[in-house]
Order: sequence, then C-alpha cells, then structure tokens
Amino acid sequence: MTPTDLTIAQARDLLAKGEISSMELVEAHIDAMESNRELNAYITETPEKALAMAQDSDARRAKGEGNGLLEGIPVAIKDLFCTADTLTTAGSHILDGFKPFYESTVTTNMWREGAVMLGKTNLDEFAMGSSNLTSYHGPAINPWKARGDNRSRVPGGSSGGSASAVAGRLALGATGTDTGGSIRQPAAFTGTVGIKPTYGRCSRWGIVAFASSLDQAGPMTRSVRDAAIMLRAMAGHDPKDSTSADVAVPDFEAGLDKGVKGMTIGIPKEYRSDAMAPEIEALWQQGIKWLEEQGARTVEISLPHTKYALPAYYIVAPAEASSNLSRYDGVKYGLRVEADDLLSMYEKTRAAGFGDEVKRRILIGTYVLSAGYYDAYYLKAQKVRTRIAEDFRHVFGHVDAILTPATPSAAFPVDEPPSDPVEMYLLDTFTVPVNLAGLPGMVVPAGLSGAGLPLGLQVIGKAFDEETVLRVGRAIEQAADFDGRPEGY
Ligand code: GLN
Repeated sequence: MTPTDLTIAQARDLLAKGEISSMELVEAHIDAMESNRELNAYITETPEKALAMAQDSDARRAKGEGNGLLEGIPVAIKDLFCTADTLTTAGSHILDGFKPFYESTVTTNMWREGAVMLGKTNLDEFAMGSSNLTSYHGPAINPWKARGDNRSRVPGGSSGGSASAVAGRLALGATGTDTGGSIRQPAAFTGTVGIKPTYGRCSRWGIVAFASSLDQAGPMTRSVRDAAIMLRAMAGHDPKDSTSADVAVPDFEAGLDKGVKGMTIGIPKEYRSDAMAPEIEALWQQGIKWLEEQGARTVEISLPHTKYALPAYYIVAPAEASSNLSRYDGVKYGLRVEADDLLSMYEKTRAAGFGDEVKRRILIGTYVLSAGYYDAYYLKAQKVRTRIAEDFRHVFGHVDAILTPATPSAAFPVDEPPSDPVEMYLLDTFTVPVNLAGLPGMVVPAGLSGAGLPLGLQVIGKAFDEETVLRVGRAIEQAADFDGRPEGY
C-alpha cells in the first residue's frame, strides 16, 4: 500500500514495527502535495518543517523513546490555528504576513504526541462559510466529482482544505474547527470522518476566534478509529482557556468496538421535512436499519425548538464575530493600509482586508448588539439557545445518542453555489443545533448520492460522551463499508 493511503492506525502500527519511517511517510506526502496542487487544499506547505520533525521523530524512536499517540504521523493544520513562526492567515487578506510567535494549545498537544506538520490548510475566511468559496486564497477543491460530470466541486466549509487534504491523500489526518458545522459538513461532502467534540473538550487558546461560545476544534480523518486517536491527542484541560473543561481525556479508541447492542438511539422528527431530498431520507432510514440490525433500539424523539436553531445561530455567531474581529485594525497584525490619520487607517485597512461575507457578519453582528436591538435580537437568540440545549438535555434522559442526516445535499459545483447567502446558511440546518447546545457531534460517511458523491450521517451525543458517539459512528462505518476513495486520488 502506498504510504499516503494508510490510515493513522495502520501507519502507527507499521512505524511501531519498524516497517516504515516517519521520513518515508512525510516524503510520500510531500510528493502528493506537490502533484495535487489543483486541490488548493493548503495555503502554506511546510515541507522543511515536516522533514525536520520526521527526522526528530525517527531519532526518538531509534532511542526507544517516542511513544506519543501520533508519533511520526504527518498531519495538516487548518490555517485558523496559530503555529509559531509559520504564516497563519485565517483565509483572510487582513492577516497577510502574520507569523505568530506562539503555538495554539491543540497543536502544541499534537506535537508533544509526536505528530508532524505538513502545512496549513485552506478555509473560508475566518471560518465563515460552508463552501470554501470565501477564502482569500481561492477555494479548496473537492477531490470527488459527480459521475459523468467533470465540474470541480466544493469540499464544504469552513474546514474544506483539511477535508480535501484528507480525502485527497495529502495528509493522514487534519485539524478542523466547528462553530456551526465546519468540521462535519466538509466531512460529509468529502466522504471523511469529522468529530466536533463537546464544547470545552479542546482548548481554544491560540485558535483565531470566530464565535467564542461556539468554536471547537476537532479531528478530520479517513476512519472513526483515526478520529478517536487524534481527538485524544488534541484534547485536554488548558488553564489558558477559561472555557476549557477540567475533565479527564479517556482513551477514545479503547471502547470503539464495543458495538451498539442495547443502546437507545433517538431519531428526531423535527429533522424530517417534506423538502428533504429523497436520497437523504433514504440514507437516514438505512442508518436506522444498520443500527437496529446491530442490536440498538431506535425511538422517535422530539426536539421542538429545532426550527429556531438556524436563525438563533445566525444572530449569536455574527454578534460574537463582530466583537472578536474588532482587533483587526492594521495596528497589531497583518495588513495595514496607510492613511492620513488613525481612524482612516483603521477604516481603509478593514475595508481592504475583509471579504464580503466577513463584512456581512460584522454588520449583522453590530446591528443585533446595538442599543435599540439588543433585546429584540441578541437576548432573544440567547433565550432560544437555552431552549435548544434543554430540548437535548430532556431527550438524553432516555436515549444514548441521536442519529440525523449530516447535510441537506451533496457537494455542489464551485461555479454553481447556492444563489444567495441565506440559501448557503440553510446548509447548516442539521449541524448548528449541536454547537448551540455545546454537544459532541460526528459525521461518518455512509454512502454515495445518485450522482456518485459522498453523503454522511451525523451522530449526536451527551456532553463529554464522545466515547458513545465514536462507538455508534464505528458501527455505522462498519455497516456502510464506504469506499472512501475519490477517483484519481
Ligand atoms: N457554515 C457556518 C457559518 O458560516 C459554520 C461555520 C463554522 O462552523 N465555522 O457560520
């Protein structure tokens, strides 16, 4: 098997047996990255750094050290994580030339576990988007094509570069972040696995902030086992992030194969609509059947406030974003457009540095937080958010996990995106409630659409119960037996 085709678990075992070196893994990936630049998966490739880290890893292993969870494993990092001395852009023009002198906690944890960095992956600007089309660096491209249709498709967003790197065999795994679906939706569009952990499971320190009460980092991989391995390496309490939870990180891999026998899986009726594409409905039914065949009981549940989740999200997220993005003013980071006085310099820098979608969010966010509208919009959205969290808390009294579709459709062509911003926002229908409630959610590839494009199912779990989510995900993965290989990659 070519080294770029291995799963993280397979590579780990071959490394342990001395049958492959980290150097060999890294060299194979650097070759693949060079010959697949059409995917635009990476904003910055860091081959020298990767080779040096691989050499160190092999040296550690030769000395009998180096037993980290990701020892010698080459990974890609979403370009929203600050990486010391390496360009960090957040997919924006306004961070031009920004090289942080600090390293995010999540990446620090991964390097401590022996991982090797291949580069920084493309994303929607400041992680705002569901398509990668808002990246200042041009969109990442999905390695998957529809049958008999040669048009390039989006890998989803915002972690689209990470998704296309993992699906296109340009990394064994990648980090993503998920504020309203940015790990799970691109995973669904590219036939990969992505888990958004419980809010507080992974430190947000050193990750460029979008909406701080919703943002969470998580792994994107080609198997559920790999997601379990990588999540363990990324997670952990961090005193530098006051919202980081001081809870133990379990060995997520250990319970993976325990199966779903005896579990109760909730099927929320509010996720079903007449407008749902028949093939999405069919996939969902198939998922229910797979879990039942493996001994789980499925029950219909109600999450009555579901329909308010999307509007509430598109108030809360822009509100927090407008505040978080006020720091980009031409003084502290990146781009500066000179002007005669300080105020004009701020204005010119922000006008030139932010793209349309980011400006739209700043405008909406500023509006909903303004004195006359705060109660009507922001406060109301916060109340709705509480109700949504209560809906979940209520059903988790009697179910172990929830199964839903991941996305309302498969990946669309780059040149035929949803016609307006609101239609784009509707792509997040199934994913945003999970962020509003702070719960873990995972997307697992479950099959192909009629046109031959990947489709995923979503598993939602109780707070800090990623173990159950992964177990259910593993059961779906086994039943689906998905061939996660886009043609030509
Ligand atoms: N697509 C959603 C948005 O545009 C979610 C993005 C994310 O999770 N970062 O806000």
